Amino acid sequence: MIESICPNCGLKKVFDDDKVGKKFKCPTCGTIVLIEKIDVQSSMEKEIKLEVDTSSYKSDEKKFHLRNNIILGVIILILSICKQ
Ligand SMILES: [Zn+2]
Repeated sequence: MIESICPNCGLKKVFDDDKVGKKFKCPTCGTIVLIEKIDVQSSMEKEIKLEVDTSSYKSDEKKFHLRNNIILGVIILILSICKQ
């Protein structure tokens, strides 16, 4: 299956593989769009990269929370020493 995106309004349309190289008229804005196989591959790569980005962000968030807990522990330790 080939996924083609209208460059004018961003509408996604799915076609069979044998429609590659042919054109379709966008039902929303009327733009003539060429059905290309390359577009599908690049859009899939973008989605994979996006998944990697969000997972690395989550691990960074965990590290941040861990650091906060360590700082809090040090503060409690200092306070308990001062009381003595
Ligand atoms: Zn369109």
